[in-house]
Amino acid sequence: MSINFSEETGGEIITTTASLPEDYNEGSLRPRTITEYIGQEKAKNNLEIFIRAAKLRNEPLDHVLLHGPPGLGKTTLAAVIANEMGVNMRITSGPAIEKPGDLVAMLTNLNEGDILFVDEIHRLNRAYEEILYPAMEDYAIDIILGKGPSANSLHLDLPHFTLIGATTRSGQLTAPLRDRFGVTLRLELYTPEELQRIVTRSAGILGVDIEADGAYEIASRSRGTPRIANRLLRRVRDFAQVKANGIITKEVADEALSSLEVDKLGLDAIDRRMLRSIIEYYGGGPVGLDTLAATINEEAVTLEDVYEPYLLQKGFLTRTPRGRCVTRKAYEHLGIAYMGQQQMEL
Ligand code: ADP
Repeated sequence: MSINFSEETGGEIITTTASLPEDYNEGSLRPRTITEYIGQEKAKNNLEIFIRAAKLRNEPLDHVLLHGPPGLGKTTLAAVIANEMGVNMRITSGPAIEKPGDLVAMLTNLNEGDILFVDEIHRLNRAYEEILYPAMEDYAIDIILGKGPSANSLHLDLPHFTLIGATTRSGQLTAPLRDRFGVTLRLELYTPEELQRIVTRSAGILGVDIEADGAYEIASRSRGTPRIANRLLRRVRDFAQVKANGIITKEVADEALSSLEVDKLGLDAIDRRMLRSIIEYYGGGPVGLDTLAATINEEAVTLEDVYEPYLLQKGFLTRTPRGRCVTRKAYEHLGIAYMGQQQMEL
């Protein structure tokens, strides 16, 4: 068996929120019912009411928009909704819909009550969105056949379906599309305690021996994201099997994660580079996102979607109208002397 304990995983770093090839068996860890779905209490409470009301009225659920950073459980929650409603779910994504016919085919193949899950819905071609408007509002689409004076329009009725859209950037959705969702739920980063429950549950499914503080150690270093927590759990399991007696204790988790360069608070190399650059080149901020992205050679969207949410949650970074600023806590975490508030106001 060859195990790579370095930070790189085929070009991606271990704490990326994007799905990696090594996450292929995520499916087996996905909760199926709303009770198994840990955390997100606010979203779950709202959903439970919507689901119960729709069932009482014997109607499909209103269209739902889920938004939040990657890896927080949007796809999982959509599948939970389908399961709770007792309907089928078909899955597609904004970029996968390459021509209008793709979307029409998806819509016309739905059965009464089905859920159509569109991941990354903000990346759906704007021109095709117009097909969705009547589909969502009136459960119908009008297709134009042919061109010029001989063109005919064909009106197709659709089954009553529920569209669940998932997005990491709800701000990029056009207003007409956003307005057609009856329910909008925002998923938040998970607390270490919630992630500890997720890690413990996943360890149970994978048949891994784990102590409570071992699970907490992994949880508190997972950037508030279940996808990362499950990935780190698998890496730590390998480490425990090879270097310890297979049991994940706090010490084993700490050693494994340190060798992966995930620090005590879950910051990885890019987080640290981002904070350090603001301090070293911009006196602690404020600095605009695009300037910062160019300085550290990362894309501004990646910094905004993937890195910032966790740094904001941890209180290492603040957003001001003039740009991003690091906090005193970030200086302390990085071991850099804090020169006082005036530095942030430069
Ligand atoms: P997203 O669609 O937001 O990118 P996913 O739904 O694919 O995220 O979730 C990634 C993984 O994290 C899933 O395979 C699942 O195992 C785990 N997961 C997500 N949310 C939860 C949760 N609330 N409870 C337990 N596991 C979760």
